[in-house]
Amino acid sequence: MNLPFLKTFGLMLIIASSLVACKTNNTNAVSDTSTTKIDSMNTFEIAKTDEDWRKQLTPEQYAVLRQKGTERPFTGKFEDHYEPGIYTCAACGNELFQSATKFDAGCGWPSFYEALDKTKIIEKLDKSHGMMRMEIMCAKCGGHLGHVFNDGPQDKTGLRYCVNSVSLDFKKKDSTGTK
Ligand SMILES: [Zn+2]
Repeated sequence: MNLPFLKTFGLMLIIASSLVACKTNNTNAVSDTSTTKIDSMNTFEIAKTDEDWRKQLTPEQYAVLRQKGTERPFTGKFEDHYEPGIYTCAACGNELFQSATKFDAGCGWPSFYEALDKTKIIEKLDKSHGMMRMEIMCAKCGGHLGHVFNDGPQDKTGLRYCVNSVSLDFKKKDSTGTK
């Protein structure tokens, strides 16, 4: 591991502490009744070595997806993106969220009130930075996506999946049916 990379990661961690500044002060983690517990990164369908991930991903993607960093708010490419389609995991292509469930939470990160399918995302209690948050990860590759909070739209699920743009890719819905 080289030093410049460690510096970058350190910065990302500092940025991560701003995540709960989203919209409300509600930092209560969502109840973990439906949480799939995982103890090891080796349990994922797509298990690559750290070196392989580093080769495949951009430095920004690696810092967020593999090292649980957080992009700066209002900088992500999907923060203000509302085309119809499906948001996928940037690391493995797993389909995660539908555009119809995206909403403007005003917090600077893409926000969804529902996962495309509950089996697509793993939730894990995150006690870092002195907070109790529920981390969300891609169930297929273990890539860090962001956190889920319980301050989402009350007329929907009441949940807010707060996701880093850098963890996502987008498949536009079009009339030809191609992906
Ligand atoms: Zn993935």
